[in-house]
Amino acid sequence: MATGKINVSVENIFPLIKKFLYSDHEIFLRELISNATDATLKLKHLTDIGETDVKYGNPVIEVKVDKEGKKLHVIDQGVGMTKEEVEKYINEVAFSGAEEFLEKYKDSAKDSGIIGHFGLGFYSAFMVANKVEIITKSYKDEPAAHWVCEGTTEFTLGDADKKERGTEIILHINEEDEEFLEENRIQELLVKYNKFMPIPIKFGTKEETLPLPEDAPEDAEAETKTVDNIINNPEPAWTKQPNDLEDKDYKSFYRELYPMQFEEPLFHIHLNVDYPFNLTGILYFPKMTQDMNIQKDKIQLYQNQVYVTDNVEGIVPEFLTMLRGVIDSPDIPLNVSRSYLQADGAVKKISSYITRKVADKLKSLFNNNREDFEQKWNDIKIVIEYGMLSEDKFYEKAQKFALYPTVENEYFTFEELQEKIKVNQTDKDGNLVVLYASNQDEQHSYIEAAKAKGYKVLLLDSPIISHLLQKMEGEKEKITFVRVDSDQVDNLIKKDEEKISKLSEEEKEKLKGDFEKVIPKEKYTVQLEAMDSDAAPLLITQPEFMRRMKEMQQTGGGGMFGMGNMPEMYNLVVNTNHPLISDILNTKTEKKQERLIKHSLDLARLSQNLLKGEELTNFVKRSFDMVK
Ligand code: ADP
Ligand code: MG
Repeated sequence: MATGKINVSVENIFPLIKKFLYSDHEIFLRELISNATDATLKLKHLTDIGETDVKYGNPVIEVKVDKEGKKLHVIDQGVGMTKEEVEKYINEVAFSGAEEFLEKYKDSAKDSGIIGHFGLGFYSAFMVANKVEIITKSYKDEPAAHWVCEGTTEFTLGDADKKERGTEIILHINEEDEEFLEENRIQELLVKYNKFMPIPIKFGTKEETLPLPEDAPEDAEAETKTVDNIINNPEPAWTKQPNDLEDKDYKSFYRELYPMQFEEPLFHIHLNVDYPFNLTGILYFPKMTQDMNIQKDKIQLYQNQVYVTDNVEGIVPEFLTMLRGVIDSPDIPLNVSRSYLQADGAVKKISSYITRKVADKLKSLFNNNREDFEQKWNDIKIVIEYGMLSEDKFYEKAQKFALYPTVENEYFTFEELQEKIKVNQTDKDGNLVVLYASNQDEQHSYIEAAKAKGYKVLLLDSPIISHLLQKMEGEKEKITFVRVDSDQVDNLIKKDEEKISKLSEEEKEKLKGDFEKVIPKEKYTVQLEAMDSDAAPLLITQPEFMRRMKEMQQTGGGGMFGMGNMPEMYNLVVNTNHPLISDILNTKTEKKQERLIKHSLDLARLSQNLLKGEELTNFVKRSFDMVK
């Protein structure tokens, strides 16, 4: 039995290990299983190239909990190590690796979420164990070795009588880390980090119900069988070639990833590159809701099938963090800070590759089955619109497939839309005016009025739509977007038929004055308009610009900071041809006129959903009094 001293320059590294990685104790298991996997894959390689004639067989990695003995075992059937190799790889290489790692990252220890992402390797076992044993037998014909270290710089290295090839790591778990002796906890960790590792991982056994034979009597009880509890799927879909997978395989992999998710994904994108960087993965488009934040952090990042994190910020462009799925790349540096990541050239390339793939996929979906794409549009538009807003490259590509639905459920690309409306929807400056509604119920009367004039009205209801329209107006020539209830609509409507007012100039002036006396100036601009006598007597419109700025403020971004709060401003359009308006004009008593104006204004506000709270209560009370 040899004893020795690990070569250290940092006085005692073990307390450091415990301290620095405190919050990420659990990663020790991932590290040990990674090593066991590496050792097994090395053996596979050696047998594949004929370097050795040992049989590879069907190796598994086994994890065992010995609650009474307070031990955790990780056992593999890989290459194993000779005594010399233990000396070299564990005492020298692994140690200096761990030492270097800690040296490098001790200052960023606070950022432990990042520190935990690989690097410490074998020695992370000492985060949870006060004593670690290695019993290992090499695939070479040499005696087995037994290494013991009790969390100090001393170790012993002797012989062992292990007969089978491979390595067993035994952790004597610390008192304060006894959670790692709980089967549930270990099961949870194995599922979290190792669910898709390439070598089968066994953890205990489980009961499996056998299917009943077809001719079984009705009251027959299904038999159960005890089988190995295999944690992982060693060949997850993303490691296969797209040609070898069918739609149903992608769907079942989605369920494997998100067992609690009952809704099916809308479609998938298989990522697969090996130059100039290595990346595989599958992204899924789920049904999106309007809330962008709750859907983030569903994409999982793997490195060679080992789970790393579900925070892919910086790697995947922000608008795509709403997607789900898996990305696996050995080329993403993991133990560095996020800000470094964003500046990293390789990572930038990865991010733009992903953007391009997503755009290409969307385009091919659109080209291959437009009807289906239209049906899915409302469930995916938030991602696409957000992407158009935030990534110029994507904005360009999206011109080919971004859709603009009308209130009548037609779907146009922007190019098609321009063709449809260019005949009659222009303003006096020759700009194409695109009318849109954001809420079909609230803007119902405005939509109807526009439709009656033969205009197409789009239905654009995403929370970020104002930002996008603003951007589109900037990029496209001679296009303006106008919401159906905005004041700009007048420019369009007035153009085609100049209506004649029944009122004289004098009467008009008086009418305007009467209204302005009653209606708060800071909120409403009174405008007289000659419309049909059966159109509404009063109409509230909002200045398009103001409203849009306000919406943009609410949804953030867009360089709107520091603009302060926008005041609420409306136009009150008075239809001078309506009989009620004539009545108001001709009312002699001031009190009665005021009441008529106020009540009509409330009605107009009600139809715009602007009457709320106490004002609404009073209005209803007043109305009841009137019918009484
Ligand atoms: P890394 O895995 O990055 O090389 P580790 O500290 O995890 O660093 O492991 C150090 C070395 O110890 C490995 O490179 C390997 O040579 C050896 N080793 C660790 N675990 C095993 C194992 N289960 N079987 C064979 N060799 C192992
Ligand atoms: Mg390792």
